[in-house]
Amino acid sequence: MTDTFKPPLADIDAAFGVVGIYEVLGLHAFAGLDRDSVDDVLATFAVFVGQEIAPLNRSGDREGSVLTASGVVRTPAGFKEAYRRYVGAGWPAAAVASIAGGGGLPKLVATAMEELLTGANLAFSLCPMLTHGAVELLTRWGSASQKAHYLPRLVTGEWTGTMCLTEPDAGSDVGAIHTSAVQRDGCWHVTGTKIFITWGDHDLADNIVHLVLARTPGAPVGTKGLSLFLVPARHGGHDGPLGPRNAVRVVSLEQKLGIHASPTCVLSFEDAEAELVGDVHQGMAAMFTMMNSARLAVGVEGLGLAERAFQSAAAYAIEREQGTRPGRERPHPVAIIEHPDVRRMLLRMRARIDASRLLIYRTAAALDVADHGTAAEDRNGAAALAALLVPLAKAWPTNVVNEVTSNAIQVFGGAGFIEDSGIAQLYRDARITSIYEGTNGIQAIDLVFRKLDLSPEGALHRLLNEVTEAAASLLERDDGPMLSKVLCASVDVLVDATRTLVRARQTDCDWALAVATPFLEAAAVVIGGGLLARQLIADGSAGDDSDVHRRRREAAAVFHLSHLVPEAMTTLATLDAVARSVRMFDTSRS
Ligand SMILES: Cc1cc2nc3c(=O)[nH]c(=O)nc-3n(C[C@H](O)[C@H](O)[C@H](O)COP(=O)(O)OP(=O)(O)OC[C@H]3O[C@@H](n4cnc5c(N)ncnc54)[C@H](O)[C@@H]3O)c2cc1C
Repeated sequence: MTDTFKPPLADIDAAFGVVGIYEVLGLHAFAGLDRDSVDDVLATFAVFVGQEIAPLNRSGDREGSVLTASGVVRTPAGFKEAYRRYVGAGWPAAAVASIAGGGGLPKLVATAMEELLTGANLAFSLCPMLTHGAVELLTRWGSASQKAHYLPRLVTGEWTGTMCLTEPDAGSDVGAIHTSAVQRDGCWHVTGTKIFITWGDHDLADNIVHLVLARTPGAPVGTKGLSLFLVPARHGGHDGPLGPRNAVRVVSLEQKLGIHASPTCVLSFEDAEAELVGDVHQGMAAMFTMMNSARLAVGVEGLGLAERAFQSAAAYAIEREQGTRPGRERPHPVAIIEHPDVRRMLLRMRARIDASRLLIYRTAAALDVADHGTAAEDRNGAAALAALLVPLAKAWPTNVVNEVTSNAIQVFGGAGFIEDSGIAQLYRDARITSIYEGTNGIQAIDLVFRKLDLSPEGALHRLLNEVTEAAASLLERDDGPMLSKVLCASVDVLVDATRTLVRARQTDCDWALAVATPFLEAAAVVIGGGLLARQLIADGSAGDDSDVHRRRREAAAVFHLSHLVPEAMTTLATLDAVARSVRMFDTSRS
């Protein structure tokens, strides 16, 4: 029994309803697109990833990408052909905004497609994910000639993109970047070493467009002195054939815990010819377009993998027989799913996944309104909401996936620890998601120091109003009064904790820094609780008891609201204990 993955179209459909798919489809930009056509796109894409991409997940992990003697990267068997079919079918372009020359699907729908792709094969999905981020960046910041030369090929996936920030001494602290850029004879040249560059070299596409943060001569220290450069791996290719390679060398390929098929490169830029993107010293602002896109996408990676881990564990639990139930005679072993403790693990996984999906899709729907809302007020409100949600939607689902894949191994027992089960790969692959694209610790600091604002017109206020409204709607259920009371109380506790944090940002910075991560975790559970409450009500009125997905969602939502939300309230009520213990903790060498 190895891991299994069925595109979770029924759960995606339910989540769409909760986060406002009709509001999104009602935006002028998506005129002509209706619910049926969205369902058709997803169903067709699901078949494509199931047939072409998912089968390469295990073999890609075993074989891995390798650096050949000639200094170029070779991907695992089947990847090149699968990528060619992916591009040939027009999938990369489908999700790109029409202003950039793509199919113009809403971000919400594109996010569901990303979920399917990452669930099928995380390592493969990273290449299109970064290319998509490069498209968003160039659409906003590229010059007319950059848009004309690079965008069309990136949009189709004919060429791919990378994001080059990290250096040996510049990880979380991007401002420490040393890579330099100088201008000679009207052309920029970039020199420096970038590490950990995902899909930094490969054989899937003819050309790779590196987006590189670098420092120009005399630039201010820190992030304010960074500029962004476009460095093509190969010259030319605009009007005629591709020319020779640019001076970008793959020094080595990292040997990693997971995502073996995704080549993680050390790249040396050796006076490589480059083009400035945007203005000098505007690099961080431009790169943030790509980073925000990638942060949400990494949250989606957590979701896709967690869904796959749940499905595999649930399927295994139905097949695997072990032990008996109280009152039953030997020799009649039962399927392990009959053991309440196994069902509890699956339920906890399900609740975490459902809340993650809603949080991510809510963010994507807000981004659609931010980009395409008719009134400026709507666009600005949605943009503020999305900015608040992005660190939550990146960090929480990627913490969740670490817990979920670990629990999936637990459900498999010893078999889960053995590579043949496939679950071990999901656990290994998941581990990176809470680290890259800004570690989850950095996301929590971003949330607490840049995004928290309790003003009545602020995004947090609006979000918490949504939670309170959802709590009120629960009253129509038999168990509603209890669930509603818990959810309302959690909003009060979250508001109190936010007030304390906002004060501490000014008066006791270390206090705020010490509790940022538990605050983010608990806030995600409360906000996720509001979204699950809405899903519970919507599922209740749909009322089809024969639908296993609906019944699972109902149990998961009740578990989340009645058990996980109170857990989060305890966390919020004891933040001071966290900060005081962190202060007490002796960090001198023992
Ligand atoms: C497989 C893989 C793929 C990657 N792909 C890319 C890529 O395509 N492009 C790219 O540019 N980079 C990429 N990265 C780099 C990745 O984004 C960094 O590893 C990540 O940002 C963390 O940086 P670091 O590894 O230097 O850790 P450090 O910055 O050294 O952090 C170590 C620990 O300290 C904590 N920490 C650091 N500073 C602070 C602070 N100020 N406050 C609180 N805590 C802090 C961190 O949260 C973390 O827990 C990739 C990395 C890996 C492993």
